Formats: sequence, C-alpha cells, structure tokens
Amino acid sequence: MAELRGSHGDQPNHILTRWFGTPDLHKLEVYSSKAGGYTALRKALVDMAPADITNEVKTSGLRGRGGAGFATGVKWGFINRDAPGPKYVVINADESEPGTSKDRYILENSPHLLVEGILIAAYAVGANQAWVYIRGEYDEPYRMLHEAIEEARAKGYVGPKPLGKDYPLDIRLYRGHGAYICGEETALLESLEGKRAQPRSRPPFPAVKGAWGRPTLLNNVETLCTVPWIVNNGGAAYAKLGTEKSPGTRLMSVSGNVRNPGVYEVELGQTFRHVIMELAGGPPEGRRVKVFWPGGSSAPVLPESMLDTHTDMEALAAARSMGGSGGVIVMDDSHCVVRAAHRLLKFYAHESCGKCTPCRIGQDWAVRTYERILAGEGSQVELDILQRVSDGLQNGRCLCGLGDSGGWVIDSTLRHFREEYEDHALRHECNVGKVMASA
Ligand code: SF4
Repeated sequence: MAELRGSHGDQPNHILTRWFGTPDLHKLEVYSSKAGGYTALRKALVDMAPADITNEVKTSGLRGRGGAGFATGVKWGFINRDAPGPKYVVINADESEPGTSKDRYILENSPHLLVEGILIAAYAVGANQAWVYIRGEYDEPYRMLHEAIEEARAKGYVGPKPLGKDYPLDIRLYRGHGAYICGEETALLESLEGKRAQPRSRPPFPAVKGAWGRPTLLNNVETLCTVPWIVNNGGAAYAKLGTEKSPGTRLMSVSGNVRNPGVYEVELGQTFRHVIMELAGGPPEGRRVKVFWPGGSSAPVLPESMLDTHTDMEALAAARSMGGSGGVIVMDDSHCVVRAAHRLLKFYAHESCGKCTPCRIGQDWAVRTYERILAGEGSQVELDILQRVSDGLQNGRCLCGLGDSGGWVIDSTLRHFREEYEDHALRHECNVGKVMASA
C-alpha cells in the first residue's frame, strides 16, 4: 500500500480532513483543544432536541458514503425513537471494497471524529448502544479507535451520564471475520450476531428489524464523521458545498497507475480529471489513463474519454456508473481490460456467499468463460455468454449488490472495450502492446 497522502491543514472547503496532519490529533486532548473536538457533542446533548439534530442532517443533504448514497437524515428518521425497548447504532467499518481505504485514513488520523459522530447519532435516534463492526485486518485502526473510545469513556463522554445528560451512551467494537460480504449491511448484522454472514431478505429493513431484531441505524464511518461539522455549522452550510443533489465533500482513495496514490477530500461536482490528473498526478510518464473505476471495483468502469465526468452522484448515474465507496482505481494503457475483468470476476466468484443462484452459479460461469477467452479458445459464443451472465446478475436478480457488481464489471468493460474483447475472443490476440507502441 502506498503511503497515504491527502489534504492537510485548515482548508476552508475541507470538512473531514481539515485538521489532519496536526500532531497527535488522535488523542482526545489534541482533538479537543486544536480541532474543536466534542463541541458538537456538547451542542447536541445540551442545546438540541434529538429531532432537531436529525432535521439538521436532513437539511444538509448528506448522503451515505458507504456505497448506496442514501439520504442520511431520511435514514435516521426511519428509526422510531419512541418505540419501547433497545435500539442500536451499527457502524460499518468493514471497508473491504477493493481500492478503498478512506475509512482507514480517518481512523488512523482522527478516531475521535468517529466517536463524536457515533455519540451524536445514537442520541438523535434514541439508541444507547453502538457497535462498530471493523474490518478484521485493520489492526492499527482498531487499536487507535479502541484507545479513543477508552479516552472518551474516561472523560465521561461515553458512559452513564455523558456531559451530565441523563442519557447513557456506550460504544463497543467488533472485529470483522475477513469476508467481503460482511460489508453488506444485513450480512454484517448476521455476523455481528455471531451467525454466518449472509445477506437478509428485505423487508423488513434494519431500521425496523436490525441487530438482534431491534430497530438499528446502520451508517458508514465517513458518513458519521461528517455529522459533528454539520451540528456545529448547520445543515444549510453543508448544503452550500458540492452540488444541489450531492452536497458536501467526500474522501476519495485513488490507487493504481497514478503518481501520487492517496486519499483526497474532494468537493462533489469536481471532475475525475481533477482528481486523477491533478490531485493524484496522473499516470506514470509516457502512459495514458485507459480506464478507471470511479467508486471501488463494484462501480461500472469509465474510459479515458469520460475523465471529465463529474464526481457527484447524478453525473455518475448519467454516465451509467456510481460513486460507490469513493475508491478511484486507475489503470493505464499498459494493461489489458479483459484480464482485469477476469481478475475481478474471480474475486466476486470467490466472495459470493452462495445464498442465491444467479450469483453462486453466474460468477463462476463468467470466470470459466473468461478463462476460455484468455486461453485463445474463445468465439462469439463466449462473448454472448458473458453478456447473458451479466444480464442475469443485474437489476434485482440477486439478493444483494455483490451479484450486480460482477455483472457491472462484465457489462461496462464490454460496452467500453468491445474491440479488446473481440481481439481476444474472435482473433485470439491481445493488442495491448501494439496500442502502447502507437500511443
Ligand atoms: Fe450471496 Fe451473491 Fe446472493 Fe449476495 S448476490 S446474497 S453474495 S449469493
């Protein structure tokens, strides 16, 4: 993994990374004294009613940063705060999407930002208990978040009477089990309950029947880390950043064939050309961007000709892709798209939980079809099979998004790089080297 870089210092249009780079920011004392930490928690608990907090988040227009991009305030509003019995907040820190490392970046820089966001969210939706489901391989983020929670507990922010408010708040950590599917929200709940991680059928949705059958708010790390700023500055101020329907900023982890891979905070509406060519420095000398994944490996690919696509969710939807996890993966012209698609399908086939037939059978079928094509044994039949398998994986035919992801890899690479597929399947050759020579 390349050294994580990003935006540091007091950048006016940076929200999450504004204070990153401040020495010892991960410590409560520094987070409080240098970055204004826990002022939002105080404001929320002392000065605001829970419904007011939710309304501010609604006004901000913040949308989930985990992948689906659902309106955060609306999601909070689905939890019936007055329902009797326990309610939970569960934080998805599983971050297993290939090409994505933004949550890790936050946790290794400012774990108290997440602690503060969790406490505010729990109070707003009427939960007393929060669980952070953190990727099992994230040793350092786990250690730092654990320390932050214990510091907050010692200070009284986590505990029976946070800031004197008679409203107990607790946060517990749960280490993930290493499967990609644990990042799917209902599979995550199954795993948290100690069961095999397989997605649940919906409805009922987690807001009604989530962890241990109780109303549960599920949010991503980055989403909750944005909340303290919104509480401090107001939802309307947040809504002024970005675009009308995709307000604010988001973290993008840029990896692959770029000179400066790293995590960058980007105001939504900027172009991918800005992100890839300016922030991340573009491809290595003598190379061109061939293709990029704008939102993790699950997002449909876009070719170089679409570098001017904007980063907001509407622009990406119009380009038949999505912002997903914010993981921007760049591949230059020295690589073969068909081989890359094959590699990704192997990943999805391996990570399929096997619960529904199109995904369990289809992903594996696609892998074997790619293998025939790459072995020089392809024909039009194989291209047709890939398209049929892709169609069978998408548009709600599978229980969760993992099925769609495999389908989108096939479909988008076929759509944008048909000629390269035909080189392999019909002419039994790979022309990537020749493209390089004439470039
Ligand atoms: Fe499991 Fe795949 Fe079905 Fe998701 S789409 S539930 S991963 S078999």
